[in-house]
Amino acid sequence: MAALAAAPAALSACESESNSSGQVSEASTADSAGPGLSGIKRTRRPPLPTVEPMMRVRVFRARAETPSVQIGETDQWLRVFPLASAPGTVVLRGPLQLCVESGRWSIVDKDSRRAPVENLDGLDIASLAGAGPAVHINDRLYPGSLRLVARTDQGPEAFDVINLVPLEAYLPGVVAAELFDHWHLQTRAAQAIAARSFACSEHTLFRGRRAYDVTNTARSQVYIGRIEHDDTLDAVRTTRGQVLAYDAALVPGYYSSCCGGLAARAVDVIGNHPANDIAPLAGREGEDICITVKVANWTIQRPVQVLTRRLIAYGKRRGREDLAGLATIASIEVVESNVHQRPVRYAVTDVRANRVELGAETFMRAANYEQGQGLSRPKQPLMSSYLRAVVSESTVIFKGHGLGHGAGMCQYGAEQLARSGKSHRDIMAWYYPEAEIVRAYT
Ligand SMILES: [Zn+2]
Repeated sequence: MAALAAAPAALSACESESNSSGQVSEASTADSAGPGLSGIKRTRRPPLPTVEPMMRVRVFRARAETPSVQIGETDQWLRVFPLASAPGTVVLRGPLQLCVESGRWSIVDKDSRRAPVENLDGLDIASLAGAGPAVHINDRLYPGSLRLVARTDQGPEAFDVINLVPLEAYLPGVVAAELFDHWHLQTRAAQAIAARSFACSEHTLFRGRRAYDVTNTARSQVYIGRIEHDDTLDAVRTTRGQVLAYDAALVPGYYSSCCGGLAARAVDVIGNHPANDIAPLAGREGEDICITVKVANWTIQRPVQVLTRRLIAYGKRRGREDLAGLATIASIEVVESNVHQRPVRYAVTDVRANRVELGAETFMRAANYEQGQGLSRPKQPLMSSYLRAVVSESTVIFKGHGLGHGAGMCQYGAEQLARSGKSHRDIMAWYYPEAEIVRAYT
């Protein structure tokens, strides 16, 4: 989930570029933007959709460690058609084993026959079944069809599998993954509208820029394909086409697991550009209702030396010489907070009195950084950037609040509101001040 602690799939699936346990718009956060994306800035607000978008969701990354994928069920007939210069459509019996070999697709069907695909252009794969087509990838079922795209920039055998799925068929697999099964129907309806708004925003941003709009991880929003959960299906169906709007444009429905009691502003934690600088994404006033839940308060200890190494390694990777040049950390202080009193900037001072200021989200990512310098993934990653730190001899004690970036809807808070009798409209009004819910398409 975009940052729900109890969902291991969400956190472990996070890509290595980001240790953030929260949803981010990939192109929006300068520090976490993937290769080639850091230059993308939202200069204009995304428009309201007029028709249901066809989402492009990356659901599998074939790389050196997992170079092949199984597609389709036993005896399912699948149509495989190359996208560009093509020898034409072939119909094969599943399951298919696909990988890239010697610069071309290798497709082997159930009877061990190889399909004659001679190049590395993209492939589309769809079930021959009529209504409600869906295709398995490994053991998971995805509505819609699949597109395979070579990623030679990631290695000679690398490719992405992208699920092409109408937005309304995509959303149940998001809402079910983002919330616990026993959570309230009204929380699900609010989550559906937030997730739909976020998806539409990413769909607009990435069209024409890359082959997919969102990933299936907490970096975008977690997606687990086709699901059967009545309340989730009801929540999506009853809110069909509904998105958040403000001043005649779309509000990207950012959300995170738990704000810890104080809201973040999207310009501080998602990306500092005009499209995020709107009232609905500036955070609600006052203390949130989530403060009594378990993840609202946490304490994590780290050896000072290990934390120092993480910050140095992060600085080297990101070309931040000030961080890379740090000696042993002596103190970490809040130097700036937002209007709601949530910290947005920290100063790190080392034993030689070097002082480095950095944004709160950047600090959290650096403190959780795990590559190089003999580092590995922290046993307890910092769960949010809303924290206070005390350096005591060889240990740093972090007392923090919440899980995820804290902008937009707080999932734990939404559930508390729903249990107290609030509707999904009340929940949206609580977390996205001044936004309205509109039906953008039928
Ligand atoms: Zn909250």
